[in-house]
Amino acid sequence: MLVAQLHTRGISVTGVTKAFLGDYRLANTLLAAGIRTLGDSRIENIEAMRRNGITAPLTLIRTPMPSQVERVVAAADMSFNTELDVISALSNAARKMDIGHDVVLMVELGDLREGIMPGDLEEVARETLRFPNINLKGIGANLACRSGVSPDSTNMGELSRLANFLGDALGFDAEIISGGNSSNLKWAVGGADIGRVNNLRLGESILLGLDPLHRQPIDGLYTDAIKLVAEVIECKIKPSRPWGEIAQTAFGENPWVRDRGNISQAILAIGRQDIDPLGISSSQEIKLLGASSDHLILDTSGHCLSVGSMISFQINYSALLRAMTSPFVTKTYVEPDGHGPPPSISSTHLQLPEDIHQCY
Ligand SMILES: *Cc1c(COP(=O)(O)O)cnc(C)c1O
Repeated sequence: MLVAQLHTRGISVTGVTKAFLGDYRLANTLLAAGIRTLGDSRIENIEAMRRNGITAPLTLIRTPMPSQVERVVAAADMSFNTELDVISALSNAARKMDIGHDVVLMVELGDLREGIMPGDLEEVARETLRFPNINLKGIGANLACRSGVSPDSTNMGELSRLANFLGDALGFDAEIISGGNSSNLKWAVGGADIGRVNNLRLGESILLGLDPLHRQPIDGLYTDAIKLVAEVIECKIKPSRPWGEIAQTAFGENPWVRDRGNISQAILAIGRQDIDPLGISSSQEIKLLGASSDHLILDTSGHCLSVGSMISFQINYSALLRAMTSPFVTKTYVEPDGHGPPPSISSTHLQLPEDIHQCY
């Protein structure tokens, strides 16, 4: 749906695979849906996709580590770059292997993560064009990641202007103008002039059906395509309040828990190593009480869950990222059983007690 919608705006989609370790089954699902190119921030994931027979063009969307340039030119067709020293190292590596490597220069547009300052872009582009075995393909930007700066007609207009400026100054015609990530969708389909932007890199919107700017469901997309299931390993009636002298917890917090008398407390065999405890929600009547490395502690509202039973959760991006990259979380792939409409969207969040931040 996103591919078709963006196609009408002249924008191609790069499917971002980093949230699932470049798993080839999901990568192939994206390709089957009409996506032509995939991007990942880790060379290990790109190599895994290559090993598993993915032949689509693959882009490293984080500027390469100098220590990995050989692996980058060997496995990735293109990389996003912000440092001339890295591009120079990529050039040397590509020359030794007698191959070409495509480069997109990332521009800083205000979110203050990666990017060349706009005033330096001409010089960096001029130098990049001189490196042997390096093909400068275009420019890109990334917003709403570190500082939450929203893509809008001002910063996206700046990106188009910079592309035009490189044309005028260097006679360089940018083929790729990659405007950003899932947080660009609202801008891209909202009817604004998209200028020269012709590519977006989408991860979260595809996986979770959410617009990351306000985490609102995107019309027509599934928000529960991925679900987390955890197993109950203990359930007992216990006091709500710990006893003994109280110092810090395993994660450095000072616990303070209001006495609510006895409660039914369950433990699920999943923890901070596998999920973000604040990023999961369930439709069951349970409250999150705390989490350690491998225990999730719940108040099950008076009725004990039987040991061995399975509790389902919806997960946000933070929990998804950890769950998909935790070796302790088994991934099960379910083939779609038809093309029914997305289920009605209802997101029930775990009821958080008011003292949640103190009660780990
Ligand atoms: C992670 C990432 C994306 C994808 O972001 P989503 O919000 O998941 O769509 C795009 N571009 C870059 C550079 C990234 O690091």
